[in-house]
Amino acid sequence: MSSRSIAAAIVALVVILSVGYLIGRSSAGDGLADAQEVSPTEARDRDWYVPNSEDLAPDEMRVIACGTGMPTTRAAQAAACFLVELGNGDKFLFDVGSGSAERISSLQIPYDFLDKIFLSHLHGDHFGALGELYIGGSLMGRHVPLRIWGPSGAAPELGTAYAVQKMEEMYTWDVAGRLGMADVRGIAVEVHEFDYTGVNQVLYDENGVVIRSWPAIHAIDGPVSFSLEWNGLKFVFGGDTYPNKWFIEYAKDADLAIHECFVAVPDIVAKLGFTPEAALLVGTQIHTAPEAFGKVMSDIRPRMAIAYHFFKDWDTTGDIYERISKTYDGPLSLAEDFMVWNVTKDEIRVRMAIVEEHTWSPPLASPAVTPNMADREAMSEKLGVEIGYTDFIIDGKWNVDDVLMPIYEEAGQALGRTFAYPDPTKPNN
Ligand SMILES: [Zn+2]
Ligand SMILES: [Zn+2]
Repeated sequence: MSSRSIAAAIVALVVILSVGYLIGRSSAGDGLADAQEVSPTEARDRDWYVPNSEDLAPDEMRVIACGTGMPTTRAAQAAACFLVELGNGDKFLFDVGSGSAERISSLQIPYDFLDKIFLSHLHGDHFGALGELYIGGSLMGRHVPLRIWGPSGAAPELGTAYAVQKMEEMYTWDVAGRLGMADVRGIAVEVHEFDYTGVNQVLYDENGVVIRSWPAIHAIDGPVSFSLEWNGLKFVFGGDTYPNKWFIEYAKDADLAIHECFVAVPDIVAKLGFTPEAALLVGTQIHTAPEAFGKVMSDIRPRMAIAYHFFKDWDTTGDIYERISKTYDGPLSLAEDFMVWNVTKDEIRVRMAIVEEHTWSPPLASPAVTPNMADREAMSEKLGVEIGYTDFIIDGKWNVDDVLMPIYEEAGQALGRTFAYPDPTKPNN
């Protein structure tokens, strides 16, 4: 390492440490409370969030970042996804970008509760995990249809209903192969495509929760931003957008205002390999540059501004923060995956979640039912083809009945019931 790059690394480290100090101060109180007495045996307060370890108070909103990154995928950050949990029991997903399904699963929330998705636009980094929630969410315990709200476009082919219909078609073989073998009640969608030009239009009004949309300006016509209001609290999710007048007007007074803040132009060139011309276009005209993000937040003055849609690394964070600071000095979270905001009228608490990666399905919120072969027969009829194995494939089965039959007997003994061993010559077994 040259002395110049060592000096640059030291400068970057100092910037990051100061940024961490400042951000920590703005989000975690003044740090002047009496120090806790330390015991060798008693548990201490902790300042991180462990899923499934805290009740949500009736007047509280909890927001968890399940994706904060970019269309260029990386293990450390999924693409756009924010989960909103409300004290009335409702939960909403705003965008489900690629990689977010794994983050969602690690929160161990019963999938029946994760049935409402709002899509800001149809870029893959904002809905790339939809298929995983459609199929995987059902296999992990969602027994109700997935409800999807998303914008129309300038033509039917550019709208949400078209995208979801094609997704369902893409999974034809997948679903055919599960019918009669799994509880497939959750492999169903309910699409609510709405007019992308609607200005502060109500899309959802149930159980004291009102969700609205207004247009965003990004790539081509179609993208939108959302607000969610409940119990006197206001959450705003901007999606991808160039700064726009509607956000300035309708995001005002938000408790949490999430707005994209794109990678700074020099890093788009250096790290993403764009030409300077393309970097300037994408980093300032298609998306919101950090300086412009700050200007937006200075105008709407939320209780907490949340920036996302950049790769948050040791050598990008300081620069993003400095650029935002040129135009904004209010409360700020530079989001990363698993950042958590607990919001009440009195306080916004910002922490990181510590999650278990080796999770299985969360508990079922409604009982599973035994698979029904009638489902498969109905699809067979619809497609006009027998779904199952042909004699040619059946004939390829190698006989392991002698080791499988005892598994059926073992289950029978354990549960005090008889389980019929399938007839290996039947095509659907
Ligand atoms: Zn986009
Ligand atoms: Zn995006």
